[in-house]
Amino acid sequence: MPHKLIIIGSGPAGLAAAIYGARAELRPLVISGSVPGGQLTETSAVENFPGFISIQGPELMQKIREHAAAFGTKFIDAQATKVDFKTRPFKIWVGEEALEAQAVIVATGAKAKWLGLANEQRLQGKGVSACATCDGFFFKNQSVVVVGGGDTAMEEANFLTKFASQVTIIHRSAEFRASKIMQERALKNPKIQVKYNSEVVDVLGQDRVEGVKIKNSQTGEVEDFPCQGLFLAIGHKPSTEIFEGQLELDHGYVKVHDLTKTSVEGVFAAGDVQDPRYRQAVTSAGTGVMALLDAEKYLAGLE
Ligand code: NDP
Repeated sequence: MPHKLIIIGSGPAGLAAAIYGARAELRPLVISGSVPGGQLTETSAVENFPGFISIQGPELMQKIREHAAAFGTKFIDAQATKVDFKTRPFKIWVGEEALEAQAVIVATGAKAKWLGLANEQRLQGKGVSACATCDGFFFKNQSVVVVGGGDTAMEEANFLTKFASQVTIIHRSAEFRASKIMQERALKNPKIQVKYNSEVVDVLGQDRVEGVKIKNSQTGEVEDFPCQGLFLAIGHKPSTEIFEGQLELDHGYVKVHDLTKTSVEGVFAAGDVQDPRYRQAVTSAGTGVMALLDAEKYLAGLE
């Protein structure tokens, strides 16, 4: 017998869908992925999830998982390696094992792009962040650096001026790629300064960020720039490799219509894998619930 519902991904979107799915007696199976719990397990304090004034990201995800399990959700803590959405029931492989489902919710999330510096990873959550909305609040009256030149960098730099005393955008090229209006907004903000043609080549500090090493790509000059925060805004990569050729994608993100429906009837998408814009745990959880309600309706129609 195929499963009624398989949810691929175990971040806020997948688990919120699982809670609703389990309570609707769909006996959902969650394929947790390579990082069970998703991006929040790689962050420290979370202060914007309703109901928790402050909670560590991994603890929050553990609680949501326990919530889903308490109502009967089953988990496979492994990665989905292949899918076939051209047959019915749908097929999802976990290694050699092929699982079948009548409906699927894709909630595999996205990953922030990082510079790939050893100290950047070591100081993640200790001053290094890829989400200003999540972590900006922790940098009141401090000096922070934003890396990137796209709309996200402009938006995050502007947002950070609410808290930080100074925001320095470090951009590897001579011109921003961001839309004109976003650039102008950032450039006329008195708290924002820009270093063009510059790359962050190291992150300084033992227990917390104390500065960054910046290299000017034109002069080759290297300087130590003191700051307490380093925000990466160099783009995100949705986790959609296994859906290529199976679902319609848009700039790598799963394309949805009617809010949660993918190009294949019966396959729904929720969370960051279909959302380059909001990328918040709460909005992800919300779209997870929406996808579940749509999947439930779809399954009822099959009976
Ligand atoms: P983008 O891909 O648009 O920009 C990424 C930026 O990071 C570029 O300036 C790029 O530099 C730089 N970059 C990439 N890799 C590196 C690296 N290894 N080292 C240093 N710099 C690097 O990503 P965004 O997240 O800014 O935007 C994604 C999409 O979301 C866009 O379509 C954007 O318009 C949209 N968006 C819209 C918003 C809005 O309308 N409110 C808000 C935020 C995003 P370079 O230019 O030199 O390649």
